Amino acid sequence: MTEPAQAIAVTDLHKRFGPLEVLKGVSLTANEGDVIAIIGGSGSGKSTFLRCINMLELPTSGSVTIHGETIAMKNDGHGGLMPSDRKQVQRLRTQLGMVFQSFNLWQHMTILQNVTEVPIHVLGKSKDEAIETGEALLRRVGLFEKRDAYPAFLSGGQQQRAAIARALAIQPLVMLFDEPTSALDPQLVGEVLTVIGDLAREKRTMILVTHEMKFARKVANHIVFLAEGVIDEQGTPDEIFGNPRSERLKKFISSIH
Ligand code: ADP
Ligand code: MG
Repeated sequence: MTEPAQAIAVTDLHKRFGPLEVLKGVSLTANEGDVIAIIGGSGSGKSTFLRCINMLELPTSGSVTIHGETIAMKNDGHGGLMPSDRKQVQRLRTQLGMVFQSFNLWQHMTILQNVTEVPIHVLGKSKDEAIETGEALLRRVGLFEKRDAYPAFLSGGQQQRAAIARALAIQPLVMLFDEPTSALDPQLVGEVLTVIGDLAREKRTMILVTHEMKFARKVANHIVFLAEGVIDEQGTPDEIFGNPRSERLKKFISSIH
């Protein structure tokens, strides 16, 4: 068997906000087909880690490699890094589909426009092709009938499913999810997890920050436990949930049951 190709490699990532060092040397590789769940307490640096992968936050040091291409960085003159080639970041970002806790749909656009905007205006797809792909994705997430509605008329669960369709529409190499169900009413969580679970079953490469431990255990092949800016422990779902070794992880797992 050939080795799976590397999708993302993060090496020795540090991130500081003023005096606060939020990430203290985090390294993680995702190969194609991996579903990696990141768990950890509030404030442990999970969102910051995800945001550094697509340079929504700029790392203080360390490197990010996407599909074998390392993002070129230079000193920003304030002890941190900045991209030395903005075009490269823009290009590599189109390989990453990001889904946020708060959906972040464009409110002044219909659901279909949300899904076709980047394919048409950034990726240069024809309108017809973008609409065809977009409608197929909306059908997949159960929102075809809502394609001409504006986000405000959708439930939170529907909005998040639309946000997932929008992220998929760029045909990303990797999907990044930051607590995609945390802002939802409990009865709406399931419909969003079903969509994400389907993507996992199709072996779509994903890095998922989540508080849904049962779901993480079911869909992920690798779990990373982040605590105070370092990977405290990582392993298979059975290792992490069935046989946690570090005291911090044991405490975290017992706190969420
Ligand atoms: P998590 O997602 O695990 O809850 P975050 O990555 O959001 O954690 O935040 C980690 C720490 O970094 C927190 O203490 C948070 O307050 C701080 N932090 C996050 N973003 C910023 C920012 N833009 N400026 C200053 N501090 C921040
Ligand atoms: Mg967070």
